[in-house]
Amino acid sequence: MSGKKETMRICRFTTDEMISPRLGLLKGGLVLPLAEGEVMGSVIDSRTEEAVPLAEVKLLAPVTPSKIVCVGRNYRDHAAELGNKMPDEPLLFLKPPSAIISNDDSIVLPEASQQVEHEGELGVVMGRRARNLKEDDDPLSYVLGYTCVNDVTARDLQRKDVQFTRAKSFDTFCPVGPSIVCGLEPQELVVTTRVNGTVKQRGQTADMAFPVSFLISYISHIMTLMPGDLIATGTPAGVSPMKPGDVVEVEIDEIGILRNTVQ
Ligand code: MG
Repeated sequence: MSGKKETMRICRFTTDEMISPRLGLLKGGLVLPLAEGEVMGSVIDSRTEEAVPLAEVKLLAPVTPSKIVCVGRNYRDHAAELGNKMPDEPLLFLKPPSAIISNDDSIVLPEASQQVEHEGELGVVMGRRARNLKEDDDPLSYVLGYTCVNDVTARDLQRKDVQFTRAKSFDTFCPVGPSIVCGLEPQELVVTTRVNGTVKQRGQTADMAFPVSFLISYISHIMTLMPGDLIATGTPAGVSPMKPGDVVEVEIDEIGILRNTVQ
């Protein structure tokens, strides 16, 4: 097992002058642009001469994944609060990339649902293509870094439908960010979710039924994980409905705060 990687913070950003968004390293008050494809490779070599002051950039959602793989019922207390048994294998579902919004964007409540709830989660961003990984392949070495995710869920539609697609897939139902942090130990984090400043969820990632390393290996036996793909690792207890005007924050200390207003 290799030692901890150096902590790096990766963002996706644009400026008034840029034609298309780029990835960058966040360092102090600066954004250091990264070359195309550089982030998902093993070496990141930042060029300080192109540094842009943070005040001059618009930060975007840090990922543009080919797919978002979500894990249901990965915390015992959350399964219990919804009256569900714990699965004996990870319960997987997909969210479409079109649901992604960034920090500060608005979650839009759809007319089709009367009960849209927050689910604060640790997000895993893949750094390398992963297929049929065994546990001793060191699955965590395939990770680029970690971020905050709000797996927004129309709970009434989730109960009504046989599967989760509609309940999980409305536009704006996947806030992600604010940035990707490399080199963290994924089972030593605390995920806190607040609504209007009141703590609703606080879970230790140590309590996951299926830890990140196992999840990556398990998923990689079903579908190839591509660089940039996002895994939402499940939510702890305390999910609750959101209403227009609410400010919802998902915070992981080492990563930051993902803040969205409900509309
Ligand atoms: Mg979830």
